[in-house]
Amino acid sequence: MINRDIIIFGGGIAGLWALRRLVDTGYDAVLIEKDKLGGDQTLASQGMIHGGQKYAITGQVNDHARSIAAMPERWERCLNGSGDIDLSATKILSPSQIMWPAGGMLSDMAVFAAAKLVQDDTVKLERAAWPEILKGHPHFKGSVYLMKEEVLDSKSLLAALAAPVRSRIYKGSVSTLDQDGSVTVDNVTIRAKAIFFCAGQGNEDALRFLDINDRKTQRRPLKQVMVSSVPFPLYAHGIVGNPKPRMTITSHPGADGGFVWYLGGDIAEKGVGLSDDEQMAFACRELQDLFPQIDWAAKDYAVWSGDRAEPFSDKGALPPGPYLHSIGNISLGWPAKLTFAPGFGDLVMERVKDLSITPTTSGEALPLPHAEIGQYPWEKATWKKLNNARSA
Ligand SMILES: Cc1cc2nc3c(=O)[nH]c(=O)nc-3n(C[C@H](O)[C@H](O)[C@H](O)COP(=O)(O)OP(=O)(O)OC[C@H]3O[C@@H](n4cnc5c(N)ncnc54)[C@H](O)[C@@H]3O)c2cc1C
Repeated sequence: MINRDIIIFGGGIAGLWALRRLVDTGYDAVLIEKDKLGGDQTLASQGMIHGGQKYAITGQVNDHARSIAAMPERWERCLNGSGDIDLSATKILSPSQIMWPAGGMLSDMAVFAAAKLVQDDTVKLERAAWPEILKGHPHFKGSVYLMKEEVLDSKSLLAALAAPVRSRIYKGSVSTLDQDGSVTVDNVTIRAKAIFFCAGQGNEDALRFLDINDRKTQRRPLKQVMVSSVPFPLYAHGIVGNPKPRMTITSHPGADGGFVWYLGGDIAEKGVGLSDDEQMAFACRELQDLFPQIDWAAKDYAVWSGDRAEPFSDKGALPPGPYLHSIGNISLGWPAKLTFAPGFGDLVMERVKDLSITPTTSGEALPLPHAEIGQYPWEKATWKKLNNARSA
């Protein structure tokens, strides 16, 4: 039996953030990932650090918007090396995000209202400062606003988090979990004073091991679309009168010097009921309508289908913030958003304090292999040209 202070299961943003906070505080913590780091949601995310504007835009000035508002400043400190965790090696894809009206007069008013709501750090751009794709639009005339909220390259973020604690990150498959804190991972038995499942969908495994049948988790599906190659980057929310942005676009450098556009927002939610081919064709029509100067039917397309894994809400809603559900010394955690990682780290630290765990010196290495960082959806996608996708 190997003893450790703390075991974390799951190597997405939540598990890695928790590991860094714990190890930096002196705990003998290890992380066990079943496959690749960031493998499910984190590397599929759009990497956007939200400060509540997105929710203000959609009229949801609710608990979620309020609790997320403090996060960008904490990220800022981490990214410049002065925060809870030094993330200065993280690549920033864009220092800001754009809001543009993506659906006629009504959307121009929606963008204006959103900008008013969050006026402090939202700037109306002169035409000369618009993103290239809007400057080149044949008849776009709306108002374009800039939010000072970063878009991160999530792979470099995971690398920055993992680098100082690489030797504590393992790959393995858990097969037993006992309430007393002992687990079996690939025939290795380890006992810990606290266990944190930060495993996204894998938190459902922990509930099964513990024989807990109450509904504690929910999944909300998305069907994101990837388009390649686009000559300009864009990090933007296309606002309409609807609660959700018509399209949220991030851009990721491609091998040919162009960009893969990664499309989320309303299009990814609406697309859940469509086949992959239907969703790609829908995205193509939407893009043709939004940016008619480009022949979108000539591009390559791919989709990413997956779930957002969250704590259960009887309304199926987005949780207001990061969440930790503890059963004795075993906890299940969800950051709810990449943005909430600093707040999630605080919850883990509070729980360890509540359990009065005193740090011990590190034990021997576990006899398990080390986990590697995973791939972005566009690095492992099956790309295809569309048939009959040209917009009507
Ligand atoms: C398409 C999409 C776009 C998003 N965009 C944004 C955005 O722009 N901004 C934002 O703030 N948030 C965004 N989010 C939300 C954000 O990505 C997630 O909230 C966050 O990444 C969840 O992190 P996690 O570490 O909890 O889970 P995950 O990233 O899913 O990591 C869980 C890890 O646990 C591992 N695992 C599973 N089961 C086990 C097990 N039994 N044992 C060991 N390991 C296990 C998995 O392999 C995985 O590596 C987005 C989400 C999606 C799906």
